[in-house]
Amino acid sequence: MQLEFLGGAREVGRSAILVNDSLLLDFGVKTGSPPAYPLRAVGSGSTLDPDAVVASHGHLDHVGAIPSLLSGTARPPIHWTPPTYELAMVLARDTLKLHGGTPQCPFTREELRRVTEVSETHGYGEPFEAAGHRIEFFNAGHIPGSAHVLVDDGETRLLYTGDFHVDDAGGSESAVAGQRLVAGTTERPDADVVVCESTYADVEHERRGDVEKRFAESVRTTLWEGGTVVVPAFAIGRTQELMLVCEANDLPCYVDGMGKEVTEIVRRYPEFLRDGEAMRRANSNARFVTGRDGQRTRIARESTVIITTAGMLSGGPAMTYVPEIYANPTNKLCFSGYQVEGTPGRELLDTGSAEIGGRHLRVSAQVESYDFSAHADRSGLRTFLREYERTPILVNHGDSCEWFADRLCEEGHDANAPALGETVTV
Ligand SMILES: [Zn+2]
Repeated sequence: MQLEFLGGAREVGRSAILVNDSLLLDFGVKTGSPPAYPLRAVGSGSTLDPDAVVASHGHLDHVGAIPSLLSGTARPPIHWTPPTYELAMVLARDTLKLHGGTPQCPFTREELRRVTEVSETHGYGEPFEAAGHRIEFFNAGHIPGSAHVLVDDGETRLLYTGDFHVDDAGGSESAVAGQRLVAGTTERPDADVVVCESTYADVEHERRGDVEKRFAESVRTTLWEGGTVVVPAFAIGRTQELMLVCEANDLPCYVDGMGKEVTEIVRRYPEFLRDGEAMRRANSNARFVTGRDGQRTRIARESTVIITTAGMLSGGPAMTYVPEIYANPTNKLCFSGYQVEGTPGRELLDTGSAEIGGRHLRVSAQVESYDFSAHADRSGLRTFLREYERTPILVNHGDSCEWFADRLCEEGHDANAPALGETVTV
């Protein structure tokens, strides 16, 4: 089996691996200005012409450029789980709306429309055929619909982990051992080679139950003092996770931004959630903001929780809420995930002030940070890879892929981290 690493190799973003020159695994975008796309792809110089595409999950860095594969006469079938298909469509429509007709959007409205024609959805544990390969999806525990992808070409079985999360070891039934939204992966299908993500290979996360407890206590204190809590959150996964956390801890919340539409989708697939009934309760507990008639300004004066995009304060309704609440030290801003270098969220954490919605704000409100990560940390990766001690491991999707591959070798694994553009025969 031949694997060509077209993106996501020794980096996070634009994930894409071409198997046997015919089957494409993921086709993402690395956000930035300008955004970066996988090699050999997008635009007039493209030499990429896969027979079929398989997507692991509905995040921009894994599916963001998929519609561009349907330019000209190319119509490769696209295989994914039902939630991944719907989330990819939400992301693509958003990209088109914000950037259509510019280099920031790698596809046209017509190419996006064609996705519906070539889409083929599959559940976990339902094998199918794509470009002459036998494929099967397994729950990866990252976001609803996220999959480990097992690819069999008749000679070699490849396990592509995609992004994944494992529950904390030793979590009792009453403790929160993992994400409330999706159960961590327990799947370890037999494979001859594993391509493994490594986003948090050098991080040990605080136990999930402790993160949640700190968050709930802090929010409760602010509400008791009459303050407002703004929680910037990614639309996909994180917004729903925080809705579940609020419901479980009796906290009122508003939900705003793209997370509203994503919540609607997620609710339609209870079989892809840890607890569909809990999601239903979380949905009743939350109030969804329409944004009409100065509603946001009014809500920002209430003593409540507001879960809103963008997760790193780079846009979205957060641009209305933050300027409303920043000047009062009774109010609170709770980040819900890692803030990437160069984002307003990171600037605010580091300096106490940031450029928000075109204004430079020196923030008097309290600023806190909580890691509700959906990725396996160092022990999570170890837990997963324990089952693959005699299987070659190719590390990708991380900022320290080579470092992690070296650590794995020290521990007796056969591991390395292919470079961008490298072709590996396994
Ligand atoms: Zn992801």
